[in-house]
Amino acid sequence: MTAAATLRTPDALARAGLVAPERLPALERVAARYAVAVTPAVAELIDPADPADPVARQFLPQEAELDAQPSERPDPIGDDAHSPVTGIVHRYPDRVLLKITHTCAVYCRFCFRREMVGPGGLKTLTPAELDAALAYVAGRPEIWEVILTGGDPLVLSPRRLREAMERLAAIDHVKVVRLHTRVPAVDPEAVSDELVAALKCPGKAVYVALHANHPREMTPKVREACARIVDAGLPMLSQTVLLRGVNDDPEVLGALMRAFVETRIKPYYLHQGDLAPGTGHLRTSVAEGQAVMRALRGRYSGLCQPTYVLDIPDGHGKVPIGPAYLDEGVAQVRDPNGAAHAYPPEGFILKE
Ligand SMILES: *Cc1c(COP(=O)(O)O)cnc(C)c1O
Ligand code: SF4
Repeated sequence: MTAAATLRTPDALARAGLVAPERLPALERVAARYAVAVTPAVAELIDPADPADPVARQFLPQEAELDAQPSERPDPIGDDAHSPVTGIVHRYPDRVLLKITHTCAVYCRFCFRREMVGPGGLKTLTPAELDAALAYVAGRPEIWEVILTGGDPLVLSPRRLREAMERLAAIDHVKVVRLHTRVPAVDPEAVSDELVAALKCPGKAVYVALHANHPREMTPKVREACARIVDAGLPMLSQTVLLRGVNDDPEVLGALMRAFVETRIKPYYLHQGDLAPGTGHLRTSVAEGQAVMRALRGRYSGLCQPTYVLDIPDGHGKVPIGPAYLDEGVAQVRDPNGAAHAYPPEGFILKE
């Protein structure tokens, strides 16, 4: 199945054969609330005959999105509480997020910023807003790293990206620039040589973190797009959201991590699903996530191990959430199969 352009409405999804026409009234209500976009490359990966298709679950709107739970919240990780100027989130002393655009190439059904991204939300920073955001960074020598996120920074034109990189290159105390993106996975052909060249930031280390959640997303074209980035001297990391019915299975997650490592992408984070509104049907429990991580540790290369993290609601920060292998207080360590092994008690105690 091929589609010529990005599908942006339930009607367009129905015409492409991806959703049943009788669901349109309900899906129109979902789309009125949360942005929809499915690129041709993603549409091609979806098997419409499979009701449990793991790619469809990530990108096609579902009626269940209208069921928000009381524990869910519009700003689940508390961006607003730490935003000193438009476009900047400064929660940790040494790094800031620079949300240069609120547009994405696709709209993920579980997005933690789903109330902020998309055509209904804020768009790209205006020149004056970008000036103010960069002035904020330039005025604070403790900012060592700038993380371009959004939205998705790779939807910007190479010209705009190059401009942003040149301006960051001029700030001495910024040593590292990181971009978080889904573009190489959902629109690999957009990763042109010109775009890759625009990501270079003279004098700084630039890292590109790819968001992908299922091994089927790592097609040959996607791997080639990532190779263009890595070959240009930009190391890549991964980020994955743990999703019910998509990757909450050690075999699937292990295959995804292997695909990353084979592509020279170092697995970085596995995120516990945030409490974004209407995403409960895609969330696992933390206990389920820990069980998957334990199985991953037992069966896959150390290179294939991401850190499982939770963003504490309301802006209290990201923390690793295990599983833990030390049984504290009883001086023993558990192996990946759950068996306990003694470790000398004095080894646990702080030395004087
Ligand atoms: C996730 C996040 C970062 C980056 O955290 P790392 O652990 O360095 O990847 C920075 N700022 C904010 C506000 C974040 O949510
Ligand atoms: S690409 Fe990222 S910011 Fe955009 S919809 Fe998906 S999760 Fe949200």
